[in-house]
Amino acid sequence: MGVFPRLRRGKPWKLKIEYWILNILFLALSACSPPPRDALLTGQTMGTSYSIRLAASPLGRGDLRRLQADIDAALAEVNRQMSTYLSDSEISRFNRAEADEPVAISPDFQHVVRRALEIAAATGGAFDPTVGALVNLWGFGPDGRPCAAPAAEPIAAARAITGWRHLLLTPDGQLAKDIPDLRLDLGAIAKGFGVDRVAELLRARGREHFLVEIGGETLGVGRNGQGESWRVGVLKPDESADLQGIARLTGGRAIATSGDYRNFYRDETGELRAHIVDPRTAAPVGHAVASVSVLAGDCLTADALATALFVLGPDEGLPLLAERFPDVEALFLVRTGDGFREIASPGFAAALRYEPAPAL
Ligand code: ADP
Ligand code: MG
Repeated sequence: MGVFPRLRRGKPWKLKIEYWILNILFLALSACSPPPRDALLTGQTMGTSYSIRLAASPLGRGDLRRLQADIDAALAEVNRQMSTYLSDSEISRFNRAEADEPVAISPDFQHVVRRALEIAAATGGAFDPTVGALVNLWGFGPDGRPCAAPAAEPIAAARAITGWRHLLLTPDGQLAKDIPDLRLDLGAIAKGFGVDRVAELLRARGREHFLVEIGGETLGVGRNGQGESWRVGVLKPDESADLQGIARLTGGRAIATSGDYRNFYRDETGELRAHIVDPRTAAPVGHAVASVSVLAGDCLTADALATALFVLGPDEGLPLLAERFPDVEALFLVRTGDGFREIASPGFAAALRYEPAPAL
């Protein structure tokens, strides 16, 4: 028996030569066949783009096409549940419902609401998924930009219809509110969840090494095509496309960034107004922090905490992380006038490198 039973019948020296010829042939053939390449899938979802890199993927074109169709279907399902841009989504139905009219929602939506409420409680309401009326009032919703800063009266009116404590998820999966005009807005957490959902799908299909990104929120699982940790650039929070540094995603971690450098306008006094509202002041966050990047074990948590930490700033945010989220790391980039100062938790400082960007 054996791999080459025919060889056994020859003379010993002949056997040796045939063995080496076959070995050399095998080595030559394996050197000729190219190593599997990374596969890149790109598309649109949640009003932004997504990209998925599968390291050293053995999948052929047809398999990749089918995989992407399944990913698109999973993301469409997230939108069908949680997009406020779809008038017949579960979230839109909830937002239209009366106060005494609980709405049954799908298990994924329940999971996101449960985590959103936990993070709201843990951050003292800095993360608040009901802050939509204020976001709209300050010019980042369907009503568009205001001509001037809103007056005290409309601010008070918007404030009266916000507050995560007015939102209730019943044990049997129904979403309820105790004020009719409360509006749920998962814009600061849904992209992160979408990333986690795609990762779950890829894992279920046997993929072990991949990078998933939706609108900049990213999760890296396993290793890249070179067998190293996935690396993700942290942008300087200005108009340049320069990198502040490169973060290594080890152990299946996610990175998300929130800031005031992408979605903003300057009001009539020249003041910068950006799309994250501090629920405590009912106004857009306005401090020297330009961006916060967060490393966490899942992308939903990274996404929500990046928003919360942007509200809180480093003085409040870093002690809160150490106390309530010991596995989460953060990097604050603070404007100095001629650049940015880094304020990082120890784990983020260790994950950040200053090296040339990898060729993508
Ligand atoms: P990006 O969408 O740029 O990734 P975020 O994840 O920080 O940024 O989400 C910002 C969005 O979250 C806003 O456009 C708004 O819809 C919503 N939002 C604004 N302020 C808050 C807040 N304090 N808590 C929760 N969501 C917020
Ligand atoms: Mg966020």
